[in-house]
This record gives sequence, C-alpha cells and structure tokens, in this order.
Amino acid sequence: MLAPGCPRCPRPVVLDGPGWACRDHGPVVPLWRPAEASYDAFVAHLERADGFPTLLPWPLGPGWHVSSFGVVAAEGGGVLATVTAVSGTTLLDGPVDVVVVSEEPGTGIGTRVARLPGDTPSDPGAEPPVTKVRVEQVSVPMWSVSTSAAPGGGSTDVELDRSVLVGEESGRWLWLLIRPASAMLLLRDEWILRDATSIGPSLVEVPFGGPDPGW
Ligand SMILES: [Zn+2]
Repeated sequence: MLAPGCPRCPRPVVLDGPGWACRDHGPVVPLWRPAEASYDAFVAHLERADGFPTLLPWPLGPGWHVSSFGVVAAEGGGVLATVTAVSGTTLLDGPVDVVVVSEEPGTGIGTRVARLPGDTPSDPGAEPPVTKVRVEQVSVPMWSVSTSAAPGGGSTDVELDRSVLVGEESGRWLWLLIRPASAMLLLRDEWILRDATSIGPSLVEVPFGGPDPGW
C-alpha cells in the first residue's frame, strides 16, 4: 500500500544490497507513500511511523482533507521524518495546500518540500520568529525561510507561490509550507498541530483524498 521512493527527490528507489538506493542520491532511507491518500493507507503509514509524530493541522476546517502523507523509515524501524499535506479552500485564496514536515536534522525532506538546496534550513540570524504553532501542548516559534535560493527563486512567481516556515521541536525540524504564499494569513492565530496518533477515534472522521498536492 505504501511504495518506497527517494526522500530527497521524486525518483523511485531500487533495492541495492541490504538497502534502497536512488540513482542520484545513492543509498537512502526510503520515503514511503501511498499512491492515493486513504484511511487504510494512513493506518499503514502510522504503523510504519511507529510512534514518530505525524502532524496534522487541527481541527481541519469544513471541506478540508488530508491529501498526501509519507514517512521516511528504514525497513524494520528507524524513523527519520513524516510529511502530511492538507488541502482546502479559503475565501481569499481559493485552493490552499499546507504541508507539514517533521524531520530529524539531515534527512533532507524539508528542503525538498520547500524546493531549497541542501538539507538544512538557513540560519534566521537575529530575525524574530513570524508566528508560533502549538504542537500538542508545546508552543513552537516559527521563522520565515526565504525561497529566493530555490530554482527560479528571486522571481516574483516563486515567492508568491508559497510561504515556508521552519522551527525546532523536540530536536527535530518542523517545516510548514503554505501554498499560495498569501494563505500565510491563515496563521494569524496560533495554529494547532496534533499528532495523528493522539487524535484517537475522531481520526475515522478525517476526510482523505486527492488530488495529491504534489510536493
Ligand atoms: Zn534521490
């Protein structure tokens, strides 16, 4: 139900000796994702995530749905990252996608989702955080990440295309990608991200489905 791919690029991976390898990135711990977001695939995802947090903006607004998810995990354990995407519409922005990444430093999936080079967010320096999100009970300051280093970056199209925020939570990078960039205004109030494993029975009421937002 979940197929392996490269965490750093959209390529499939092939079995190479004891592990998986990407043609461009060599041996990798694979990213497991479903062809289509569904409740059953999400249950398989949570099993593979094995307690590593899978974060969802909560509660989902009316008409919003979980459109994509993935977990970077070695065969038999060793989980490095999770990705979830929720999609919906707002009056001001039309269709909006929000992608949440929780990753161990160096996994490289946050920068992939943000379409930035390398595997580490740029140092915010003395910049103050632009907002806070709440992960379960913890308030996490989030910094804005410039997308000008992205391919095509510096052009207005790329900068209006999406907003990227990053923070640190429990020693992991927490990335939020919001498309289009103007939908950042959604974050005015402190957003709540909940670990899907702690949502309990109401998880069966969460709508899943496409189209895949294509991170
Ligand atoms: Zn790759």
